[in-house]
Amino acid sequence: MNFDFSVEEHAFIAGVREFLRAERERPDADDVMNLGREADAQLADTPARRGFMRRLADAGYLGMSWDSEYGGQERSGVFDYLLNEELASVGAPLIGKGVGCIGKTLIAHGSERLKREFLPQILRADIEFALGYSEPSAGSDLASLRLRATPVEDGWILDGQKMWTTSAHFADWYWVAARTDTTAPKHKGISVFLVPMHHPGLSVTEVKTMGGHRTNQVFFDNVHVSRDYLVGQENRGWTYVCEALDYERFTMFTVGPLRVKFEALVELLRITHRDGEPLCRLPAVRERIAALSTELEAATVLQRRVIAAAMKGHVPTVEAAMYKLCGTELGRRMADAALEMLGPEGLLAHGAPGAPADGKWEHSWRATVVDTIGGGSSEVQKNIIARRGLGLPLA
Ligand SMILES: Cc1cc2nc3c(=O)[nH]c(=O)nc-3n(C[C@H](O)[C@H](O)[C@H](O)COP(=O)(O)OP(=O)(O)OC[C@H]3O[C@@H](n4cnc5c(N)ncnc54)[C@H](O)[C@@H]3O)c2cc1C
Repeated sequence: MNFDFSVEEHAFIAGVREFLRAERERPDADDVMNLGREADAQLADTPARRGFMRRLADAGYLGMSWDSEYGGQERSGVFDYLLNEELASVGAPLIGKGVGCIGKTLIAHGSERLKREFLPQILRADIEFALGYSEPSAGSDLASLRLRATPVEDGWILDGQKMWTTSAHFADWYWVAARTDTTAPKHKGISVFLVPMHHPGLSVTEVKTMGGHRTNQVFFDNVHVSRDYLVGQENRGWTYVCEALDYERFTMFTVGPLRVKFEALVELLRITHRDGEPLCRLPAVRERIAALSTELEAATVLQRRVIAAAMKGHVPTVEAAMYKLCGTELGRRMADAALEMLGPEGLLAHGAPGAPADGKWEHSWRATVVDTIGGGSSEVQKNIIARRGLGLPLA
């Protein structure tokens, strides 16, 4: 059993770190890499961020695991994972929805026309996507989605509403699941479309999360989509959505930032005093931090199991559910523990005089809750583990 990476993988990590060191020297680096903003790096759009993504593309880091036929390098997916971990560990944007979820799904199921139009733009980092799955009455039970796609001569007309769409306020294209057959069983009447985000029939309004990050509601009013922008086959959309969600769990949730935050917390406990003693000498604090350290190792190993299963060609559904559950709940527990250990001052927010670590933990406490919901809530991950992992009947 070997938990370490190969010589080639270590050399790759060193190359990425060198790339990031050079990026750190740029005057706009703070706009691109900032761990203190938690998930904000993935949810914001600035010229600096787009510039960073283009340099990442120029350096050959996008589409590494794609087929060479589509501009990829046919490298093992472990390199995408290693890259994402390094990016996340410095608070930089991840390789994201384009390369991860949408590009791979288009390669597997898209028409030649969609591949020709979108794959080169994804590889050059010229394009941002938003994912339109959830609706007011369809989140965990996604197959209940109701956004209506009515057939017309040359395509469909979409009417209805999406909810919680991250990036809708700056994305270029919308990857949308809609109901094309209202008479079929709910999983069998769904299709996926690509819609330009600037379509006049779309309107986007802000929804702020408790972590302060922006997500959106999107309203569709008579939005025409031509046949060319149907992804794969009509009414087969549920399969594509599930595949794209598996890629999302694989590429979007990283353990690196947890490790960086944990190390910062240990350091904070060394230098913060209560009644003249550093916090790290208090038995209750030591007990708590040791337990968190153990959970962090467990999350790291669970994440490697996801990668190992994927490398063997399995769809790592149960492994990904276990990792997402463990990693995101650990993020929440770490922030919880930090606030308890820091005492009342821990509740002081960014900018308040005397706020420990300038309010980072107060913000982390609000922001990490959101990670346990997006991409499938913790309860949903437990259901997957119970049903698919343990073979238990439906409750
Ligand atoms: C910050 C953020 C960004 C997001 N970005 C996107 C995006 O870009 N695109 C997109 O399509 N969606 C996005 N989502 C939506 C996200 O996927 C949903 O919020 C999530 O799937 C939960 O759905 P819901 O909010 O409708 O809650 P519900 O499904 O209504 O769940 C409410 C509660 O009931 C629990 N629950 C539900 N069903 C069960 C069950 N069977 N067993 C046990 N417990 C259950 C849930 O765990 C939860 O605690 C985002 C969400 C957030 C918070």
